[in-house]
Amino acid sequence: TKTILLKNRPKGTPTLADFEFVTDNTESSIANGELLLETVYVSVDPYLRGRMSDAKSYVPPFELNKPIHSGVIAKVTASKNERFKAGDYVSGMLDWKTQQISSGEGLLKVDPSKAPLSAYLGILGMTGLTAYLGLTQIGQPKAGETLVVSGAAGAIGSVVGQIGKLLGLRVVGIAGTDEKIEMLKSKFGFDAGINYNTTKDMPAAIAEAAPNGVDIYFDNVGGPISDAVFFSINKFARMVICGAISVYNNTQLPKGLSVQPFLVKNSALMQGFIVSNYAEKFPEAMTQLSQWLAEDKLTYTETVVEGFDNIPTAFIDLFEGKNTGKMIVKL
Ligand code: NDP
Repeated sequence: TKTILLKNRPKGTPTLADFEFVTDNTESSIANGELLLETVYVSVDPYLRGRMSDAKSYVPPFELNKPIHSGVIAKVTASKNERFKAGDYVSGMLDWKTQQISSGEGLLKVDPSKAPLSAYLGILGMTGLTAYLGLTQIGQPKAGETLVVSGAAGAIGSVVGQIGKLLGLRVVGIAGTDEKIEMLKSKFGFDAGINYNTTKDMPAAIAEAAPNGVDIYFDNVGGPISDAVFFSINKFARMVICGAISVYNNTQLPKGLSVQPFLVKNSALMQGFIVSNYAEKFPEAMTQLSQWLAEDKLTYTETVVEGFDNIPTAFIDLFEGKNTGKMIVKL
């Protein structure tokens, strides 16, 4: 069995030296109530960067020299737990290990006949829930309004934009390459896109792409991209603060926003959230997402990296935008 441990707390952008691989003999004897799991897909996510630091947050930091964990799809290879049988597939927060023993706690059975297994880490998992609940609960969308999404070609952003279109919004996406902008429009139905790497005047580009102003800003990246959006917000605009990947690797304490006057003069709302705040709405969100997916009203894309050994690289690559849609490692 191979395991990936957190060796160092990354300073700035994580590097391969922050991770350690260890190999030991596979444990195969399971006690009553336990399951033996073989890892099939591993989700790598920007939010894991926060858990690699020891700063206080909404979840405790990963421990040094202990396995890292994230969303995983695994196959049950042996079971002494009545809820699961050998051959079942499960999703849950599991260690970065090729095989592991679990008590079954927190695991959900997933059905490969209903959707590809990897989708349960993306559109039918935390990604879809975060997109749907952030947009609907905080964004309070009304048909005809304008939505701007940052990190638009990523896992969450690409779902937010599509849901925006389903709800009758004008949708503008911000992403880092021309290929991504093209995909936002051709595959996901966005009305307009802005490449922040090649656009010199971001406030002007946003004003042009959102001629009626911005009613909802779904923010995955923070930093200067978000500051640029503030110049175009409408009265009673809602800023949904989902993430801030552009500052996760900063080594100095962030400085405050200087765009607050735009909130005041527009009576705008800016609210951060953690998807688990809306846990009681997960079943309803899942039903809606599954229905749209079955009706082909929603689609998704993935960047699939092969091989357990490439998990740390896939994670680091998120900070360089090497993924389009959900970044997943397939074993
Ligand atoms: P993504 O699939 O969006 O991957 C990250 C993307 O961020 C990259 O593809 C890249 O795209 C972009 N990016 C990287 N560095 C920068 C930068 N410096 N400036 C601007 N864009 C950058 O990841 P997820 O969809 O999983 O997550 C999106 C956000 O949502 C993250 O901030 C994450 O932490 C947050 N999140 C929040 C949750 C919550 O409950 N609130 C739950 C889960 C995630 P590009 O090429 O366009 O630069």
